[in-house]
Amino acid sequence: MNAIDGRTQLVGLVGWPIAHSLSPQMQNAVFTSLGLNWRYVPFPVPPEQIAVALQGLSALGVRGVNITTPYKQLVLPFLDEIAPRARETGAVNTLLIQSGGQGKLTLYGDNTDMPGFVQALESIGFMVEENRQVMVIGAGGAARAVISGLLQMGIERVWVLNRDLEKSRTLISELGRHADWATRMQTRPLSPDALEEAAAAATLLVNATPVGRLPDAAASIWPDVLAFPCHLTVFDLVYPPQKTRLLQQAAAVGAQVITGIELLVQQGALSFELWTGEHLTPFHINLMRTVCQQGIAE
Ligand code: NAP
Repeated sequence: MNAIDGRTQLVGLVGWPIAHSLSPQMQNAVFTSLGLNWRYVPFPVPPEQIAVALQGLSALGVRGVNITTPYKQLVLPFLDEIAPRARETGAVNTLLIQSGGQGKLTLYGDNTDMPGFVQALESIGFMVEENRQVMVIGAGGAARAVISGLLQMGIERVWVLNRDLEKSRTLISELGRHADWATRMQTRPLSPDALEEAAAAATLLVNATPVGRLPDAAASIWPDVLAFPCHLTVFDLVYPPQKTRLLQQAAAVGAQVITGIELLVQQGALSFELWTGEHLTPFHINLMRTVCQQGIAE
């Protein structure tokens, strides 16, 4: 790795808390591999400091940051420009700090979770023609990116199952302002009956809740009383652990599974490319994946 010197460029992660994040190891491994004099550092920012922290990033010449929980929606009013896909999703996970001319710096917000999710699906050969209906559990920031990505891909119907029905209705009405999306989403309160109903129609299940995350690795959004349908592909956004209880239930009946690491890697690669202008090859994507897998195993 290059020594830090007067030309080192800085990017990082803004969120609270972020001590568990694998992004610094993942991004720095690629800077080293490409011989770039850049560093990715964690910026844990408590909620009362977020506005001043964003100003400070510009003042310090930071080139960009990832934005994570709880700020993906909260940062929107602080931005000078927002990418169309981030506006559609209503959430930003990547900031670029750009020169706006006359010495002024501007904050540009984008969302790489949405295309990162689509790329993760495409990388396993997921075809829209064979997957007309998808079920998504959760209605938070991650669910917004996932649902926008699915609708953009052309999925005919997205079932949104959430504990708080008001929240999923709000999500549907906000995302539904775009094209014909409102008619392609359907919501149910999360329950065993709703899981069975949606699973009977869907071929892909996406868990966009934190259920199953360490230290609650024994938990699953799929109750033990229901047999797990073997026709479902399961994408669990949760990590760590790498193989959540939900993914173990799915794998036990022979269903195809995708871990949360895939989204972490794909969205991280797209953010990297936005900041540096470099194109990452499959070698670098695989390096990121390996670093994350090793980071979880530690
Ligand atoms: P969020 O905005 O806080 O939303 C959480 C959602 O999960 C809400 O819809 C909430 O339902 C639901 N939920 C929470 N606890 C639940 C429980 N015990 N049972 C059922 N539903 C529950 O969080 P987020 O940003 O969307 O993130 C969701 C998960 O995705 C997190 O674990 C996060 O780490 C993960 N994630 C992973 C990646 C990746 O790169 N792999 C990227 C983004 C997010 P209510 O509305 O009813 O409260």
